[in-house]
Amino acid sequence: MKKIISIILTLCLAFSFAGCRDTKTENEKLTIIASVFPAYDFAREIVGDLGEVSLLLPPGAESHSFEPTPKDIIAIQNCDLFIYTGGESDSWIEDILSSMENPPAVFRMVDAVEVIHSVHEHEEVSLSSHVEFDEHVWTSPVNAMEIVNALSVTITTLDSENSRAYRKNTSEYLGQLEELHESFIEVTEKAENKTIIMGDRFPFRYLAHEYNLEYMAAFPGCSADSEPGAKTVSQLIEKIKTDNIPVVFHIEFSNKKTAEALSEATGAEIRLLHSCHNVTDKQLKENVSYIDLMKQNLANLKEALN
Ligand SMILES: [Zn+2]
Repeated sequence: MKKIISIILTLCLAFSFAGCRDTKTENEKLTIIASVFPAYDFAREIVGDLGEVSLLLPPGAESHSFEPTPKDIIAIQNCDLFIYTGGESDSWIEDILSSMENPPAVFRMVDAVEVIHSVHEHEEVSLSSHVEFDEHVWTSPVNAMEIVNALSVTITTLDSENSRAYRKNTSEYLGQLEELHESFIEVTEKAENKTIIMGDRFPFRYLAHEYNLEYMAAFPGCSADSEPGAKTVSQLIEKIKTDNIPVVFHIEFSNKKTAEALSEATGAEIRLLHSCHNVTDKQLKENVSYIDLMKQNLANLKEALN
């Protein structure tokens, strides 16, 4: 049976997915696929048991170098709603969607918020005519609320039968996000040190912007660089020493090399600032949530900003 299914699916793929898309029929659960962890978690909170939400990224996988398998593409083709970031790192999705004859409904997180534009330092002005923006919109709890609000409208439209339950779940979840936002305000407002020192790349511009924090990072945005320049390292060390900054951060799935070097040179403690792109297999099984990860971030920030 499995073999037959796989042959059918292969044929499906070969014929540009023509006619192979399921549409939601009555009493069938809404199927949602999300490209990154925050989108997955937000959708899960909105639909509860009334939908099947899955995460496209395999647990622990690096989201920027992700390439979908044919099986992933078929799953995207057949789902009711596909949620993605809408930034540079998942631009492959738009190529795939445009090749589908009958694509699923889509939701782009960047469309729900005001994006922060970024110009890469090494870029010549003349080359930066194409608009670039930071895609890590979910790192601010305020943006998370906006995304959840807009996503809830999309989901409710797709499955109006369950709209009451979706609205109820959404308002409960928004309450939790609001609480999270208030805790961030409390910690950041009274902080003496307002600078985050990141011995890694920095996908937290929205977080920093929301709470008026400064930052200095070893690498810009989500660059694939792994070895910071000597000048950057010495500037980071100087900043930590002059301002007596107690914590240097690294992000998840990092080799922590730069954070360790900075810690060694200054005595600053090493802590994690989780960008929530993806989680480990263990965390996924333990049902870790965006709010869990952000609360841990807040506790670590509290140490750093004091
Ligand atoms: Zn990223």
